[in-house]
Amino acid sequence: MESNNKLKLYNTLSRKIEDFNPIKKGKVGMYVCGPTTYDKSHIGHARTYIFFDFFRRFLEFKGNKVKLIINLTDVDDKIIKAASKYDSWQVVSDRYSRYFFWMLDTLKIKPPYSFPQVTSHMQEIIELVQTLIDKEFAYELKDGIYFSIDKLENYGKLSKVNLGDPTIARIEKTPGKKNPADFALWKFKKVDEPYWYAPFGEGRPGWHIECSAMSSKYLGTNFDIHGGGADLIFPHHENEIAQSEAAFGIKKWVNYWVHVAFLTIAKEKMSKSLKNFVGIDQLLDTFSPEILRYYLLSAHYQTQLDFTWDKMKKAREQWTRVVRAWYDVVQRTEREIYGQEDVSNEIETEFNRMIESLNNDLKTPEAYKHIHFLASLVLSNDINKKSVDVAHEALSKISEIFGILPEKSWTGKELRLAEELAELREDLRKGERFDLSDSIRTRLKDEGIKIEDTKEGPRVKFV
Ligand code: AMP
Ligand code: ZN
Repeated sequence: MESNNKLKLYNTLSRKIEDFNPIKKGKVGMYVCGPTTYDKSHIGHARTYIFFDFFRRFLEFKGNKVKLIINLTDVDDKIIKAASKYDSWQVVSDRYSRYFFWMLDTLKIKPPYSFPQVTSHMQEIIELVQTLIDKEFAYELKDGIYFSIDKLENYGKLSKVNLGDPTIARIEKTPGKKNPADFALWKFKKVDEPYWYAPFGEGRPGWHIECSAMSSKYLGTNFDIHGGGADLIFPHHENEIAQSEAAFGIKKWVNYWVHVAFLTIAKEKMSKSLKNFVGIDQLLDTFSPEILRYYLLSAHYQTQLDFTWDKMKKAREQWTRVVRAWYDVVQRTEREIYGQEDVSNEIETEFNRMIESLNNDLKTPEAYKHIHFLASLVLSNDINKKSVDVAHEALSKISEIFGILPEKSWTGKELRLAEELAELREDLRKGERFDLSDSIRTRLKDEGIKIEDTKEGPRVKFV
């Protein structure tokens, strides 16, 4: 079960689906913009980071080594604003960085190679601003150093933004700018704000420069994949391209740009500023991390996904069917319970079709269809050893790629204990000790074990 076919990937830069060819065969450099650490991450953030985790896992499944970098913006206007007389900006930033790490860990997002922080990469940032000044791409105003977009031939190539449109968002309105879309590389020191020494004036970095400085430090000045949520295309990623290509003197800084559509709620982007978000901890009160992953990966990454609690419940029902197939296969393997049906070829075909759906620009909704066909083959047949082995391997790989199956698999000892408890419950029932028999049934159910009464006696099922 290997996938030799090429991955085809939509590139925001070309607006086309392209063959994915890493610069060095078998090695992929990937940079994903991280959070600004001034508040707790919510399930909208989770969509973006779970997607890139799944993408990384799929690339690894295809035999690549992936060097993933996720930065942390740990000094910024929003963080400084969130500080108070009780909390310094460093404490605010530290608290929410920890929360972000907790989220990654809890949601089974594999750790990246590095989490570079702005405050520990000041030297690299200052050197990059200095290069842009030396190459005359930057100029000074009263409040900072600005990048001059008119010095570049092709500013706007990623977002295809119409700079004449007065409604375009996130353009800093600063008097004296040569072009309204010029942006701050460095902000001069203000009263009561943190600042760093730099030869061109004390201050702190603008919003975009950190990602150019940190990605080139870890991945070089030309790397494979750069990603983030769709809101970062303009101005953040556009400006990252402008300053990187200017500073490094190259025509193509990043080969593939990948953007994840929003998780919305009532059709509006879920965001901290709109206060319409569902927190990670709030969601985990009712659903497991695996169900959240299953739900967030159920839509294609370029399609907006509108969150409702009902959709979460539906996702849980569908997810449970895949997990049941997994436990069935584990149980059969552990206890050597094999039937007669040989559906090994059909299982393998569904698995291969699933991989082909992913090779086709990571079409997860199609991949899910094949996962469900595969689960049905397991659940609706009394399958033989060959089929069990093939299904075990296929479902393990599915879990490796999507991270959706519970890590815990039942051991033979646990299975036997559950069966003995089910038999004890049967005896209690026959003796009309219903209080005790019901309590055993409930306790087992809490652990995800269901007792089914069959003609042959009780059978334990893992749900
Ligand atoms: P922020 O801390 O707001 O800069 O966000 C960190 C990352 O999460 C960025 O890549 C955002 O695009 C992404 N993000 C924020 N909100 C959402 C959302 N509702 N849906 C998908 N991605 C989001
Ligand atoms: Zn960035």
